Amino acid sequence: MGNYSYTQPSWSEDYYDNDADADSGYSQTEADILLDQAEIDATRRQYPPPPKPEVEFGFPKECYCGGEPHTATSYTATDPGRRFYTCANRDDGDCHVWKWWDVAATEEIRAISTQCQQLSDKVDYLSFLSDYETQLDEAKVLHNETEQKLVRFERIGKRFELVLGAMLVVLVIIGMVIIFK
Ligand SMILES: [Zn+2]
Repeated sequence: MGNYSYTQPSWSEDYYDNDADADSGYSQTEADILLDQAEIDATRRQYPPPPKPEVEFGFPKECYCGGEPHTATSYTATDPGRRFYTCANRDDGDCHVWKWWDVAATEEIRAISTQCQQLSDKVDYLSFLSDYETQLDEAKVLHNETEQKLVRFERIGKRFELVLGAMLVVLVIIGMVIIFK
C-alpha cells in the first residue's frame, strides 16, 4: 500500500540529487545541463507538479487559477493509490493547487478536534455559570427568609417589652396600694 508519511513528494530529487558531486569526473557544465534538463522535464511533466508552499489549509476549496480542485489517484512508485487534490487546468503550465488528500484530511480533523474542545470548554463554562446563578438565587431566597424571620422576632421582642412594661406598672401600682393601705 501507499506510504503514509506527510512529506510532499520528492520526485524532483531524482533529477537534482544526482551523484555528480561524488563522481571523480565532476563537471559544472554537466551539472548545469542536468539541472536545465530537470527544469524542462519539470514543466513538461505535469504529474505530479512540485508542491506549492502557500497551499490552503485543509481541503483546498479553490485553485490559484480560480478552478475547482478535484481529487485524483497517484500512480508513482513511492505513493501508489494515494489520493491527491489537483486542478483540471493543470496542463496549461501555470501554478495550480496540488495537495495530498490525506494531508488535507488530517488538517481538517485536527481543526475540528480543536473546535470541539473549544466548544466543550464553553459548555463547561456556561454550565458552571448556570450552576453559580442557581446557587446565587438560592442564597437570595435564604437571605430573604432570614430577614423576614428577623422582622418577626423583632415584633415579638417589642410585644414582650410592652407586656414587661405593663407588668412593671401593675407591680408598682400594687406595691403603692400595699404601702399606702
Ligand atoms: Zn488551477
